[in-house]
Amino acid sequence: MSARRLLLLGPPGAGKGTQARLLAAQLGVPVIATGDMLRQAVAEDSQLGRSARALMEAGKLVTDELVIEVAKERLNREDARHGFILDGFPRTVAQARALDALLQKLGVELECCVMMVVDEDEVVERLLKRARIEGRSDDNEVSIRVRMREYREKTAPLAEHYRKLGVLRETSGSGSIEQITTRIEEALKQGAEELA
Ligand code: ADP
Repeated sequence: MSARRLLLLGPPGAGKGTQARLLAAQLGVPVIATGDMLRQAVAEDSQLGRSARALMEAGKLVTDELVIEVAKERLNREDARHGFILDGFPRTVAQARALDALLQKLGVELECCVMMVVDEDEVVERLLKRARIEGRSDDNEVSIRVRMREYREKTAPLAEHYRKLGVLRETSGSGSIEQITTRIEEALKQGAEELA
């Protein structure tokens, strides 16, 4: 498994964050999760946080302009030079195009986009459970529905973008954490063989 520039795609609650952390530890690369970075900005009450807060609480996507800036700054840092796992960015076609342009400028390529396929009812159940346990302010039923709609309308079309680039791998996001990790590893190997 040699790919070190990866993107995890999938609906909210698909388990991208968990899998991103496990893969990152194995590969020795950082996870770049725009959701976490934005939540931190909200907690710090920075200018970015103040611009993002209301949209996030409502379950809506933050503007492309803001998120692209955040992701660019992070990808330009030294520790991302030798690889990264993107979780939650890009989420729109405009963001994907901005990422393509940035990577091109950096002289590197995204090696694999792993699409975690999960049934919508299942992820809504998971998010409601997480809401009871963690109490994240956007894990309420109304926001969850908005997030799912945003995903369907704006993010799901990215599969086509990455299919055209020849890096899309689809994998089921159902089952135990270990089962899903194994499947993602398989998908990455398969990608490496196809490229070889
Ligand atoms: P989820 O579990 O819903 O996928 P994330 O932690 O990835 O949550 O993101 C939380 C919120 O942060 C999103 O609902 C959205 O408001 C904002 N956000 C994160 N990444 C992006 C992005 N790439 N584009 C726009 N908004 C984003």
